[in-house]
Amino acid sequence: MARSYKHMETSVIHEGYDSKDMLGSLTPPLFQTSTYTFNTAEQGERRFAGDEGGYIYSRLGNPTVTILEERIAALENGERGLAFGSGMAAVSAILIALTKANDHILCSSGLYGCTFGLLTMMKEKYNITHDFSSMETEEEIRSKIKPETVCIYVETPINPTMKLIDLQMVARVAKEYSIPVVVDNTFASPYLQNPLELGCDVVIHSATKYIGGHGDVIAGLAVGKKEFLNEVAMTTLKDIGGVMAPFDAWLLLRGIKTLPVRMERHCDNAEEIFKRLKTHPNVTNVYYPSDEAHPDYSIMKRQMKRGGGVISFEIKGEKQDAQAFLNQLSFLKIAVSLGDTETLIEHPATMTHAVVPEESREKMGITDQLIRLSVGLEAWQDIWADLESALNQININSDAYSKA
Ligand SMILES: *Cc1c(COP(=O)(O)O)cnc(C)c1O
Repeated sequence: MARSYKHMETSVIHEGYDSKDMLGSLTPPLFQTSTYTFNTAEQGERRFAGDEGGYIYSRLGNPTVTILEERIAALENGERGLAFGSGMAAVSAILIALTKANDHILCSSGLYGCTFGLLTMMKEKYNITHDFSSMETEEEIRSKIKPETVCIYVETPINPTMKLIDLQMVARVAKEYSIPVVVDNTFASPYLQNPLELGCDVVIHSATKYIGGHGDVIAGLAVGKKEFLNEVAMTTLKDIGGVMAPFDAWLLLRGIKTLPVRMERHCDNAEEIFKRLKTHPNVTNVYYPSDEAHPDYSIMKRQMKRGGGVISFEIKGEKQDAQAFLNQLSFLKIAVSLGDTETLIEHPATMTHAVVPEESREKMGITDQLIRLSVGLEAWQDIWADLESALNQININSDAYSKA
């Protein structure tokens, strides 16, 4: 579905919904129903045969969910959107739809922890193998593609190291081999980056994060070609059954209206916090895509509107110093997830990426000192005051170590 409006700020509010169709209701109604009645037996027959449009049963489609699917398709400039019960339901439905036993998937060298878990399971159960690629050059990607490679799966920015991948370059190489590129666009959100416009084939979002934005729903979305997503809707979504609940779609339709406004503020706040983290003596490294010194800064300039709301950084010291730092925070919340109004901070090595074996974790750059910060919408001065105070306290502790 192409965007009906020139600006995303308008699309997030209006796409996929016309109040005239719904008794003038300004807000999309919540169709909290499991099934739909047929006027006659013959109508039921026609609907099942696909000869007549219309709803049948909410696992196959629901009007509130449809509005959200049309809206996300427009935001990502794709032909069709599809909603799932979680980001992982989207990832698993798409990957299972694209593969069969003995196939191979080429992945970016950092992946969301549970996606890594899914790939491991697919390998053990069905011998669907995978390899990782830094995707830094075309040659590097070509060298990892095998005859049995059926798709390229990419995250950018990569969670939690904030490395970026040049999506146009990956799409160009994939075209040579006629294999699709799937992009997990969760960290950027549709406001900052649109992979389909860069030549990729399928976009996945954990809508739990920036799209919902308020920490109250678990959900996933995918956008791509109509033919492929119709197939997913009728196979790995319908038959495995990871569908989105109507109320969750309703919450997301509310959250998504403010996505551009929130993303701008997330980015403003993150830039302020980044500058200060960078000069703090107890912080050894800071990873943020709109850092001019970031190795992938030029990719950021090309394919993202701004750097986003997530910053990772390394604390001076050991694992216990990273944990001590978290324990010293006063109002900032220790929690996984990201993209919420609240600033959330976590320790990837022992939380989101604890499932990744230590050796792979090190290759991904997830050290024991690494902290992931999802900068929220509070005043950045308050966020920084809390971070700085906690950072200063670990300084006291490490002095105590050195004197002991
Ligand atoms: C959270 C997340 C997921 C999984 O989404 P859920 O909604 O938690 O199932 C996948 N990819 C990325 C990058 C994420 O941050």
